[in-house]
Amino acid sequence: MAEVKVSETKDLTRIERIGAHSHIRGLGLDDTFEARDVSQGMVGQRSARRAAGIILQMIKEGQIAGRGVLLAGQPGTGKTAIAMGMAKALGEETPFAMMAGSEIFSLEMSKTEALSQAFRKAIGVRIKEETEIIEGEVVEIQIERPATAGAASKTGKLTLKTTEMETVYDLGTKMIEALGKAKVQSGDVIAIDKASGKITKLGRSFARSRDYDAMGPQTKFVQCPDGELQKRKEVVHVVTLHEIDVINSRTQGFLALFAGDTGEIRSEVREQIDSKVAEWREEGKAEIVPGVLFIDEVHMLDIECFSYLNRALENEMAPILVVATNRGITRIRGTNYKSPHGIPIDLLDRLLIIATTPYTEEEIRKILDIRCEEEDVDMTDDAKDLLTKIGAETSLRYAMCLISAASLACQRRKGKEVEIEDISRVYTLFVDVKRSTQFLMEYQEQFMFSDVMGQVDEEV
Ligand code: ATP
Repeated sequence: MAEVKVSETKDLTRIERIGAHSHIRGLGLDDTFEARDVSQGMVGQRSARRAAGIILQMIKEGQIAGRGVLLAGQPGTGKTAIAMGMAKALGEETPFAMMAGSEIFSLEMSKTEALSQAFRKAIGVRIKEETEIIEGEVVEIQIERPATAGAASKTGKLTLKTTEMETVYDLGTKMIEALGKAKVQSGDVIAIDKASGKITKLGRSFARSRDYDAMGPQTKFVQCPDGELQKRKEVVHVVTLHEIDVINSRTQGFLALFAGDTGEIRSEVREQIDSKVAEWREEGKAEIVPGVLFIDEVHMLDIECFSYLNRALENEMAPILVVATNRGITRIRGTNYKSPHGIPIDLLDRLLIIATTPYTEEEIRKILDIRCEEEDVDMTDDAKDLLTKIGAETSLRYAMCLISAASLACQRRKGKEVEIEDISRVYTLFVDVKRSTQFLMEYQEQFMFSDVMGQVDEEV
Protein backbone atom coordinates (compact mmCIF):
# COMPACT_ATOMS: atom_id res chain seq x y z
CA MET A 1 0.00 0.00 0.00
CA ALA A 2 1.96 2.96 -1.27
CA GLU A 3 -0.37 5.64 -0.06
CA VAL A 4 -3.23 5.51 2.39
CA LYS A 5 -6.37 6.88 0.79
CA VAL A 6 -8.78 8.98 2.74
CA SER A 7 -12.12 10.27 1.66
CA GLU A 8 -15.21 11.64 3.29
CA THR A 9 -18.44 9.74 3.42
CA LYS A 10 -21.72 10.35 5.14
CA ASP A 11 -23.04 7.75 7.52
CA LEU A 12 -26.18 6.65 5.73
CA THR A 13 -27.69 5.12 8.86
CA ARG A 14 -28.20 8.61 10.27
CA ILE A 15 -30.89 9.30 7.68
CA GLU A 16 -34.06 8.26 9.40
CA ARG A 17 -37.79 8.26 8.74
CA ILE A 18 -40.19 8.55 11.64
CA GLY A 19 -38.38 5.94 13.68
CA ALA A 20 -38.89 4.99 17.30
CA HIS A 21 -36.41 7.64 18.43
CA SER A 22 -36.81 10.27 15.71
CA HIS A 23 -38.24 12.72 18.27
CA ILE A 24 -34.99 12.69 20.28
CA ARG A 25 -32.84 15.68 19.35
CA GLY A 26 -30.42 15.78 22.26
CA LEU A 27 -30.25 15.17 25.98
CA GLY A 28 -32.22 18.32 26.84
CA LEU A 29 -29.74 19.68 29.38
CA ASP A 30 -29.01 23.27 30.33
CA ASP A 31 -25.51 24.78 30.66
CA THR A 32 -25.08 23.40 34.16
CA PHE A 33 -26.01 19.87 33.02
CA GLU A 34 -29.37 20.07 34.77
CA ALA A 35 -31.98 18.13 32.83
CA ARG A 36 -34.82 20.36 31.64
CA ASP A 37 -38.20 18.80 32.31
CA VAL A 38 -39.13 18.48 28.64
CA SER A 39 -36.52 19.44 26.10
CA GLN A 40 -35.14 18.21 22.78
CA GLY A 41 -37.78 15.47 22.77
CA MET A 42 -36.60 14.14 26.14
CA VAL A 43 -38.89 13.79 29.14
CA GLY A 44 -38.08 12.90 32.76
CA GLN A 45 -35.29 10.39 33.52
CA ARG A 46 -33.43 13.39 34.89
CA SER A 47 -30.56 11.86 36.80
CA ALA A 48 -29.73 9.44 33.97
CA ARG A 49 -29.73 12.28 31.44
CA ARG A 50 -27.60 14.40 33.73
CA ALA A 51 -25.08 11.58 34.15
CA ALA A 52 -25.02 11.04 30.38
CA GLY A 53 -24.41 14.78 29.94
CA ILE A 54 -21.39 14.69 32.23
CA ILE A 55 -19.96 11.75 30.29
CA LEU A 56 -20.53 13.73 27.07
CA GLN A 57 -18.64 16.69 28.44
CA MET A 58 -15.75 14.44 29.38
CA ILE A 59 -15.76 13.01 25.86
CA LYS A 60 -15.80 16.47 24.30
CA GLU A 61 -12.91 17.59 26.45
CA GLY A 62 -11.04 14.48 25.41
CA GLN A 63 -10.68 13.48 29.07
CA ILE A 64 -11.87 9.96 28.78
CA ALA A 65 -11.00 7.37 26.27
CA GLY A 66 -11.34 3.67 26.69
CA ARG A 67 -13.94 3.95 29.41
CA GLY A 68 -17.31 2.39 29.48
CA VAL A 69 -20.80 3.28 30.56
CA LEU A 70 -23.62 0.86 31.23
CA LEU A 71 -27.21 2.04 30.88
CA ALA A 72 -29.22 -0.41 32.95
CA GLY A 73 -32.94 -0.42 33.54
CA GLN A 74 -36.26 -2.03 32.80
CA PRO A 75 -37.53 -2.35 29.22
CA GLY A 76 -38.83 0.86 27.71
CA THR A 77 -37.23 3.20 30.23
CA GLY A 78 -35.33 5.19 27.62
CA LYS A 79 -31.87 3.58 27.56
CA THR A 80 -31.64 3.63 23.79
CA ALA A 81 -33.28 7.06 23.76
CA ILE A 82 -30.53 8.42 26.04
CA ALA A 83 -27.82 6.91 23.85
CA MET A 84 -29.45 8.52 20.79
CA GLY A 85 -29.60 11.81 22.69
CA MET A 86 -25.87 11.52 23.35
CA ALA A 87 -25.23 10.89 19.65
CA LYS A 88 -27.20 13.97 18.65
CA ALA A 89 -25.51 16.15 21.28
CA LEU A 90 -22.04 15.06 20.17
CA GLY A 91 -22.48 16.66 16.76
CA GLU A 92 -21.33 15.50 13.35
CA GLU A 93 -17.61 15.63 14.06
CA THR A 94 -17.50 12.99 16.75
CA PRO A 95 -18.11 9.51 15.42
CA PHE A 96 -20.98 7.55 16.95
CA ALA A 97 -21.33 3.90 15.99
CA MET A 98 -24.28 1.82 17.05
CA MET A 99 -24.92 -1.90 17.02
CA ALA A 100 -27.15 -4.42 18.75
CA GLY A 101 -25.46 -7.27 20.59
CA SER A 102 -27.15 -9.76 18.29
CA GLU A 103 -25.42 -8.29 15.21
CA ILE A 104 -22.26 -10.23 16.02
CA PHE A 105 -24.02 -13.43 14.95
CA SER A 106 -23.37 -12.99 11.26
CA LEU A 107 -22.41 -15.66 8.79
CA GLU A 108 -20.23 -13.23 6.87
CA MET A 109 -17.75 -12.38 9.55
CA SER A 110 -16.45 -13.61 12.84
CA LYS A 111 -17.71 -12.13 16.10
CA THR A 112 -14.44 -10.38 16.82
CA GLU A 113 -14.28 -8.96 13.28
CA ALA A 114 -17.77 -7.50 13.74
CA LEU A 115 -16.62 -5.92 17.01
CA SER A 116 -13.37 -4.65 15.46
CA GLN A 117 -15.34 -2.95 12.69
CA ALA A 118 -17.72 -1.43 15.22
CA PHE A 119 -14.79 -0.11 17.30
CA ARG A 120 -13.09 1.37 14.25
CA LYS A 121 -16.34 3.04 13.15
CA ALA A 122 -16.22 4.86 16.48
CA ILE A 123 -12.67 6.17 16.11
CA GLY A 124 -12.29 9.29 14.03
CA VAL A 125 -9.15 10.71 12.48
CA ARG A 126 -9.12 14.46 11.99
CA ILE A 127 -6.90 15.13 9.01
CA LYS A 128 -5.58 18.55 8.14
CA GLU A 129 -4.65 19.34 4.58
CA GLU A 130 -3.33 22.56 3.17
CA THR A 131 -4.44 23.52 -0.28
CA GLU A 132 -3.67 26.59 -2.33
CA ILE A 133 -6.62 28.69 -3.29
CA ILE A 134 -6.44 31.42 -5.90
CA GLU A 135 -9.13 33.99 -5.43
CA GLY A 136 -10.08 36.98 -7.45
CA GLU A 137 -12.59 38.79 -9.58
CA VAL A 138 -12.83 37.61 -13.16
CA VAL A 139 -11.78 40.37 -15.52
CA GLU A 140 -11.72 38.38 -18.72
CA ILE A 141 -11.89 34.80 -19.98
CA GLN A 142 -10.51 34.07 -23.45
CA ILE A 143 -10.98 30.62 -24.89
CA GLU A 144 -9.48 29.40 -28.15
CA ARG A 145 -9.85 26.17 -30.02
CA PRO A 146 -6.70 25.50 -32.05
CA ALA A 147 -7.70 24.87 -35.70
CA THR A 148 -5.52 21.77 -35.99
CA ALA A 149 -6.35 19.99 -32.74
CA GLY A 150 -9.38 17.81 -31.91
CA ALA A 151 -12.74 19.25 -30.91
CA ALA A 152 -12.22 18.58 -27.21
CA SER A 153 -8.93 20.40 -27.01
CA LYS A 154 -9.21 24.02 -26.00
CA THR A 155 -6.82 26.52 -24.52
CA GLY A 156 -7.55 29.76 -22.85
CA LYS A 157 -6.54 32.56 -20.58
CA LEU A 158 -8.20 33.83 -17.47
CA THR A 159 -7.47 37.28 -16.12
CA LEU A 160 -8.15 37.52 -12.40
CA LYS A 161 -7.99 40.66 -10.35
CA THR A 162 -7.22 40.40 -6.66
CA THR A 163 -7.63 43.42 -4.41
CA GLU A 164 -4.13 44.52 -5.38
CA MET A 165 -3.25 43.30 -8.85
CA GLU A 166 -4.31 41.55 -12.04
CA THR A 167 -2.83 38.21 -13.09
CA VAL A 168 -3.31 36.18 -16.26
CA TYR A 169 -3.58 32.40 -15.85
CA ASP A 170 -3.20 29.83 -18.64
CA LEU A 171 -6.14 27.48 -18.77
CA GLY A 172 -6.15 23.80 -19.64
CA THR A 173 -9.13 21.92 -21.08
CA LYS A 174 -10.21 20.70 -17.64
CA MET A 175 -10.20 24.16 -16.13
CA ILE A 176 -12.17 25.54 -19.10
CA GLU A 177 -14.79 22.85 -18.55
CA ALA A 178 -14.95 23.65 -14.84
CA LEU A 179 -15.41 27.36 -15.57
CA GLY A 180 -18.17 26.52 -18.05
CA LYS A 181 -19.91 24.20 -15.58
CA ALA A 182 -19.79 26.82 -12.84
CA LYS A 183 -21.11 29.37 -15.39
CA VAL A 184 -18.38 31.84 -14.49
CA GLN A 185 -18.66 35.30 -16.08
CA SER A 186 -16.74 38.56 -15.91
CA GLY A 187 -17.40 40.29 -12.60
CA ASP A 188 -17.77 37.03 -10.63
CA VAL A 189 -15.51 36.63 -7.63
CA ILE A 190 -14.25 33.06 -7.70
CA ALA A 191 -11.98 30.75 -5.74
CA ILE A 192 -10.00 28.04 -7.52
CA ASP A 193 -8.62 25.17 -5.49
CA LYS A 194 -5.33 24.48 -7.24
CA ALA A 195 -5.09 20.88 -6.09
CA SER A 196 -8.53 19.71 -7.16
CA GLY A 197 -9.34 22.36 -9.79
CA LYS A 198 -12.63 22.98 -7.97
CA ILE A 199 -14.16 26.39 -8.65
CA THR A 200 -16.43 28.14 -6.17
CA LYS A 201 -18.30 31.32 -6.94
CA LEU A 202 -18.06 33.68 -3.99
CA GLY A 203 -20.23 36.49 -5.25
CA ARG A 204 -20.26 39.36 -7.72
CA SER A 205 -17.49 41.96 -8.06
CA PHE A 206 -15.31 43.19 -5.21
CA ALA A 207 -17.03 46.51 -5.29
CA ARG A 208 -20.20 44.79 -4.14
CA SER A 209 -18.88 41.89 -2.01
CA ARG A 210 -18.39 43.58 1.33
CA ASP A 211 -17.20 40.48 3.07
CA TYR A 212 -14.16 39.74 0.97
CA ASP A 213 -11.93 39.78 4.01
CA ALA A 214 -14.31 37.77 6.10
CA MET A 215 -14.58 34.90 3.68
CA GLY A 216 -13.22 32.28 6.02
CA PRO A 217 -11.77 32.23 9.49
CA GLN A 218 -9.19 29.64 8.52
CA THR A 219 -7.96 31.63 5.55
CA LYS A 220 -4.59 33.26 5.68
CA PHE A 221 -2.96 35.31 2.94
CA VAL A 222 0.56 34.54 1.84
CA GLN A 223 2.76 36.46 -0.50
CA CYS A 224 4.08 33.93 -3.00
CA PRO A 225 7.61 34.20 -4.44
CA ASP A 226 6.33 35.42 -7.80
CA GLY A 227 4.42 38.19 -6.09
CA GLU A 228 1.04 36.57 -6.68
CA LEU A 229 -1.43 37.02 -3.90
CA GLN A 230 -2.78 33.64 -2.98
CA LYS A 231 -4.60 32.07 -0.10
CA ARG A 232 -3.79 28.94 1.75
CA LYS A 233 -6.75 27.23 3.29
CA GLU A 234 -6.65 24.52 5.85
CA VAL A 235 -9.15 21.82 4.98
CA VAL A 236 -10.09 19.52 7.83
CA HIS A 237 -11.89 16.22 7.35
CA VAL A 238 -12.89 13.72 9.97
CA VAL A 239 -13.03 10.16 8.72
CA THR A 240 -13.32 7.00 10.76
CA LEU A 241 -10.63 4.35 10.89
CA HIS A 242 -13.18 1.91 9.47
CA GLU A 243 -13.71 4.12 6.43
CA ILE A 244 -9.97 4.28 5.85
CA ASP A 245 -9.80 0.47 6.25
CA VAL A 246 -12.52 -0.14 3.70
CA ILE A 247 -11.19 2.31 1.15
CA ASN A 248 -7.76 0.74 1.34
CA SER A 249 -8.83 -2.85 1.38
CA ARG A 250 -8.07 -3.92 -2.16
CA THR A 251 -10.82 -6.50 -2.41
CA GLN A 252 -13.54 -4.10 -1.30
CA GLY A 253 -12.92 -0.58 -2.52
CA PHE A 254 -14.84 2.47 -1.41
CA LEU A 255 -18.16 1.38 -2.96
CA ALA A 256 -18.49 -1.20 -0.21
CA LEU A 257 -18.93 1.69 2.21
CA PHE A 258 -22.22 2.60 0.59
CA ALA A 259 -23.42 -0.98 0.31
CA GLY A 260 -22.43 -1.58 3.94
CA ASP A 261 -21.19 -4.94 2.74
CA THR A 262 -17.56 -4.74 3.70
CA GLY A 263 -16.86 -8.36 4.61
CA GLU A 264 -13.79 -9.14 6.70
CA ILE A 265 -10.85 -6.78 6.51
CA ARG A 266 -7.40 -8.32 6.59
CA SER A 267 -5.37 -7.61 9.68
CA GLU A 268 -2.36 -6.46 7.58
CA VAL A 269 -4.51 -3.67 6.12
CA ARG A 270 -5.43 -2.52 9.61
CA GLU A 271 -1.84 -2.70 10.82
CA GLN A 272 -0.62 -0.63 7.88
CA ILE A 273 -3.31 1.94 8.46
CA ASP A 274 -2.58 2.16 12.17
CA SER A 275 1.11 2.79 11.49
CA LYS A 276 0.29 5.36 8.78
CA VAL A 277 -2.08 7.19 11.13
CA ALA A 278 0.59 7.11 13.85
CA GLU A 279 3.01 8.68 11.34
CA TRP A 280 0.50 11.43 10.46
CA ARG A 281 -0.02 12.11 14.16
CA GLU A 282 3.69 12.49 14.71
CA GLU A 283 3.95 14.87 11.78
CA GLY A 284 1.06 16.90 13.22
CA LYS A 285 -1.13 16.17 10.19
CA ALA A 286 -3.75 14.18 12.03
CA GLU A 287 -5.40 13.82 15.40
CA ILE A 288 -7.45 10.99 16.82
CA VAL A 289 -11.06 11.79 17.72
CA PRO A 290 -12.32 9.08 20.06
CA GLY A 291 -16.04 8.70 19.48
CA VAL A 292 -18.73 6.57 21.04
CA LEU A 293 -19.55 2.94 20.40
CA PHE A 294 -23.05 2.06 21.59
CA ILE A 295 -23.92 -1.62 21.98
CA ASP A 296 -27.58 -2.16 22.73
CA GLU A 297 -28.77 -5.48 24.22
CA VAL A 298 -25.23 -6.11 25.42
CA HIS A 299 -26.28 -9.31 27.21
CA MET A 300 -26.46 -10.91 23.74
CA LEU A 301 -22.65 -10.84 23.53
CA ASP A 302 -20.81 -13.93 24.71
CA ILE A 303 -17.73 -14.49 26.84
CA GLU A 304 -15.33 -14.21 23.85
CA CYS A 305 -16.81 -10.83 22.95
CA PHE A 306 -16.62 -9.62 26.52
CA SER A 307 -12.97 -10.54 26.70
CA TYR A 308 -12.40 -8.74 23.37
CA LEU A 309 -14.09 -5.62 24.81
CA ASN A 310 -11.89 -5.74 27.92
CA ARG A 311 -8.79 -5.81 25.77
CA ALA A 312 -9.99 -3.30 23.16
CA LEU A 313 -10.77 -0.74 25.84
CA GLU A 314 -7.12 -0.69 26.76
CA ASN A 315 -6.01 0.49 23.33
CA GLU A 316 -4.95 4.13 23.47
CA MET A 317 -7.23 5.01 20.55
CA ALA A 318 -10.27 3.29 22.10
CA PRO A 319 -13.62 5.06 21.89
CA ILE A 320 -16.04 5.43 24.78
CA LEU A 321 -18.09 2.29 25.07
CA VAL A 322 -21.75 2.76 25.99
CA VAL A 323 -23.70 -0.44 26.51
CA ALA A 324 -27.31 -1.01 27.48
CA THR A 325 -29.25 -3.92 28.88
CA ASN A 326 -32.59 -4.61 30.50
CA ARG A 327 -31.47 -7.91 32.04
CA GLY A 328 -31.06 -8.62 35.74
CA ILE A 329 -28.86 -11.39 37.08
CA THR A 330 -28.56 -13.79 34.21
CA ARG A 331 -26.26 -16.29 32.55
CA ILE A 332 -23.21 -14.98 30.71
CA ARG A 333 -23.54 -16.38 27.19
CA GLY A 334 -20.96 -19.04 26.43
CA THR A 335 -20.56 -19.99 30.13
CA ASN A 336 -22.61 -21.56 32.88
CA TYR A 337 -21.99 -18.64 35.22
CA LYS A 338 -24.49 -16.04 36.18
CA SER A 339 -23.64 -12.41 36.62
CA PRO A 340 -25.45 -9.07 37.02
CA HIS A 341 -26.82 -8.03 33.58
CA GLY A 342 -25.15 -11.11 32.04
CA ILE A 343 -21.87 -9.17 31.94
CA PRO A 344 -18.68 -10.66 33.49
CA ILE A 345 -17.63 -8.92 36.69
CA ASP A 346 -14.22 -7.83 35.34
CA LEU A 347 -15.86 -5.86 32.50
CA LEU A 348 -18.65 -4.63 34.75
CA ASP A 349 -16.03 -3.23 37.08
CA ARG A 350 -14.76 -0.93 34.32
CA LEU A 351 -18.19 0.49 33.56
CA LEU A 352 -19.84 3.52 35.10
CA ILE A 353 -23.41 2.43 35.63
CA ILE A 354 -26.33 4.76 34.86
CA ALA A 355 -29.70 3.45 36.01
CA THR A 356 -32.97 4.31 34.33
CA THR A 357 -36.23 4.18 36.26
CA PRO A 358 -39.88 3.59 35.23
CA TYR A 359 -41.94 6.61 34.20
CA THR A 360 -44.73 8.28 36.11
CA GLU A 361 -48.12 8.70 34.44
CA GLU A 362 -47.37 12.39 33.90
CA GLU A 363 -44.13 11.59 32.10
CA ILE A 364 -45.83 8.97 29.95
CA ARG A 365 -48.40 11.60 28.96
CA LYS A 366 -45.65 14.02 27.94
CA ILE A 367 -43.81 11.40 25.88
CA LEU A 368 -47.08 10.46 24.15
CA ASP A 369 -47.73 14.16 23.43
CA ILE A 370 -44.33 14.43 21.77
CA ARG A 371 -44.90 11.25 19.77
CA CYS A 372 -48.32 12.44 18.52
CA GLU A 373 -46.64 15.58 17.26
CA GLU A 374 -43.78 13.62 15.70
CA GLU A 375 -46.19 11.29 13.90
CA ASP A 376 -48.41 14.21 12.91
CA VAL A 377 -51.45 12.78 14.69
CA ASP A 378 -54.13 15.06 16.13
CA MET A 379 -55.63 13.55 19.25
CA THR A 380 -58.23 14.89 21.71
CA ASP A 381 -57.20 15.40 25.33
CA ASP A 382 -59.62 12.68 26.46
CA ALA A 383 -58.11 10.20 24.04
CA LYS A 384 -54.64 11.12 25.28
CA ASP A 385 -55.79 10.59 28.88
CA LEU A 386 -57.01 7.13 27.99
CA LEU A 387 -53.83 6.31 26.08
CA THR A 388 -51.77 7.47 29.08
CA LYS A 389 -53.74 5.14 31.37
CA ILE A 390 -53.15 2.30 28.94
CA GLY A 391 -49.44 3.16 28.88
CA ALA A 392 -49.22 3.10 32.67
CA GLU A 393 -51.12 -0.20 32.89
CA THR A 394 -49.30 -1.95 30.06
CA SER A 395 -46.15 -0.34 28.70
CA LEU A 396 -45.01 2.93 27.15
CA ARG A 397 -44.05 1.10 23.96
CA TYR A 398 -47.48 -0.47 23.57
CA ALA A 399 -49.17 2.91 24.04
CA MET A 400 -46.79 4.47 21.49
CA CYS A 401 -47.63 1.76 18.95
CA LEU A 402 -51.35 2.49 19.36
CA ILE A 403 -50.89 6.11 18.17
CA SER A 404 -50.50 5.32 14.48
CA ALA A 405 -52.99 2.45 14.62
CA ALA A 406 -55.61 4.74 16.23
CA SER A 407 -54.87 7.39 13.64
CA LEU A 408 -55.67 4.89 10.88
CA ALA A 409 -58.89 3.92 12.65
CA CYS A 410 -59.76 7.62 12.80
CA GLN A 411 -59.06 8.07 9.08
CA ARG A 412 -61.29 5.11 8.24
CA ARG A 413 -64.25 6.67 9.98
CA LYS A 414 -63.29 9.96 8.27
CA GLY A 415 -62.67 11.66 11.62
CA LYS A 416 -60.37 14.67 12.00
CA GLU A 417 -58.99 13.96 15.46
CA VAL A 418 -58.25 10.67 17.16
CA GLU A 419 -60.92 10.19 19.82
CA ILE A 420 -61.55 7.81 22.71
CA GLU A 421 -63.45 5.41 20.43
CA ASP A 422 -60.42 5.05 18.12
CA ILE A 423 -58.17 4.24 21.06
CA SER A 424 -60.67 1.72 22.47
CA ARG A 425 -61.03 0.12 19.06
CA VAL A 426 -57.32 -0.48 18.57
CA TYR A 427 -56.95 -1.51 22.21
CA THR A 428 -59.36 -4.37 21.53
CA LEU A 429 -57.81 -5.21 18.16
CA PHE A 430 -54.23 -5.46 19.40
CA VAL A 431 -53.45 -7.12 22.68
CA ASP A 432 -50.60 -6.10 24.94
CA VAL A 433 -48.20 -8.52 26.61
CA LYS A 434 -50.28 -8.87 29.79
CA ARG A 435 -53.47 -9.79 27.97
CA SER A 436 -51.61 -12.04 25.58
CA THR A 437 -50.05 -13.93 28.49
CA GLN A 438 -53.41 -14.23 30.19
CA PHE A 439 -54.88 -15.63 26.99
CA LEU A 440 -52.08 -18.17 26.72
CA MET A 441 -52.58 -19.23 30.32
CA GLU A 442 -56.26 -19.86 29.66
CA TYR A 443 -55.87 -21.66 26.36
CA GLN A 444 -52.40 -23.11 26.69
CA GLU A 445 -53.40 -26.69 25.97
CA GLN A 446 -54.51 -25.69 22.47
CA PHE A 447 -51.03 -24.43 21.52
CA MET A 448 -48.01 -26.49 20.50
CA PHE A 449 -45.13 -27.06 22.95
CA SER A 450 -46.87 -25.23 25.78
CA ASP A 451 -45.14 -25.69 29.08
CA VAL A 452 -46.15 -22.80 31.28
CA MET A 453 -44.79 -24.20 34.50
CA GLY A 454 -41.64 -25.57 32.85
CA GLN A 455 -38.16 -24.17 32.61
CA VAL A 456 -37.30 -20.81 31.17
CA ASP A 457 -35.33 -21.06 27.94
CA GLU A 458 -31.79 -20.69 29.16
CA GLU A 459 -30.45 -19.73 25.72
CA VAL A 460 -32.33 -16.44 25.52
P1 ATP B 1 -35.33 -1.89 26.03
O1 ATP B 1 -34.68 -2.29 27.31
O2 ATP B 1 -36.58 -2.68 25.79
O3 ATP B 1 -34.38 -1.88 24.86
P2 ATP B 1 -35.08 0.98 26.30
O4 ATP B 1 -34.84 1.31 27.72
O5 ATP B 1 -33.93 1.01 25.39
O6 ATP B 1 -35.85 -0.38 26.21
P3 ATP B 1 -36.25 2.93 24.57
O7 ATP B 1 -36.28 2.11 23.33
O8 ATP B 1 -35.22 3.97 24.70
O9 ATP B 1 -36.22 1.96 25.82
O10 ATP B 1 -37.67 3.61 24.83
C1 ATP B 1 -38.91 3.16 24.29
C2 ATP B 1 -39.55 4.29 23.51
O11 ATP B 1 -39.85 5.39 24.35
C3 ATP B 1 -38.63 4.85 22.42
O12 ATP B 1 -39.40 5.20 21.31
C4 ATP B 1 -38.03 6.07 23.07
O13 ATP B 1 -37.63 7.01 22.10
C5 ATP B 1 -39.16 6.57 23.96
N1 ATP B 1 -38.63 7.17 25.18
C6 ATP B 1 -38.14 6.50 26.23
N2 ATP B 1 -37.74 7.33 27.19
C7 ATP B 1 -37.97 8.58 26.75
C8 ATP B 1 -37.80 9.87 27.31
N3 ATP B 1 -37.25 10.03 28.52
N4 ATP B 1 -38.18 10.92 26.60
C9 ATP B 1 -38.71 10.76 25.38
N5 ATP B 1 -38.91 9.57 24.79
C10 ATP B 1 -38.58 8.47 25.46
